[in-house]
Amino acid sequence: MTPESIQRVGIGTDLHRLAPGRRLVLGHVVIPHDVGPVGHSDGDVVLHAIIDALAGAAALPDIGEMFPDHDPAYKDADSAVLLARALDTMTAAGYALANVDVTIHLERPKLRDYKQAIRQEVARLLGLDAEAVSIKAKTNEGVDAVGRGEAVACTAIVGLKLKGEG
Ligand code: MG
Repeated sequence: MTPESIQRVGIGTDLHRLAPGRRLVLGHVVIPHDVGPVGHSDGDVVLHAIIDALAGAAALPDIGEMFPDHDPAYKDADSAVLLARALDTMTAAGYALANVDVTIHLERPKLRDYKQAIRQEVARLLGLDAEAVSIKAKTNEGVDAVGRGEAVACTAIVGLKLKGEG
């Protein structure tokens, strides 16, 4: 793939409150922790941010329109299923995914030991080589809801090429 083959870029962000009794799932990987994201689905901020980045790049309806949080079909939904649906929509619109760059904002636990697992799993879900997926993590230096450990957030950007290009 040559750099000029990137046709569109898209950005997505997500944030969920953290509370006891919920599994902390990031990029479809379960991270042992005492709190997890509150959400209608599994609250996976990584996959939700990627879905919105895909939607943005292809100028498709956003995640809230695609998967309304009042729809019982998405109660406790596995976000990997939602991501697969969003990928199908992107493909039908004539695009193929080129790369994904993700930043996770989380105060604790430190994600150093989990980033590679998340990268491998996100690449698998997207049908990409791991080299096309970047997973970065940072704390918020104790500031705001993320910094106080009350929330987890994610920012993702994707590059799309036209389907059929190398
Ligand atoms: Mg979300």
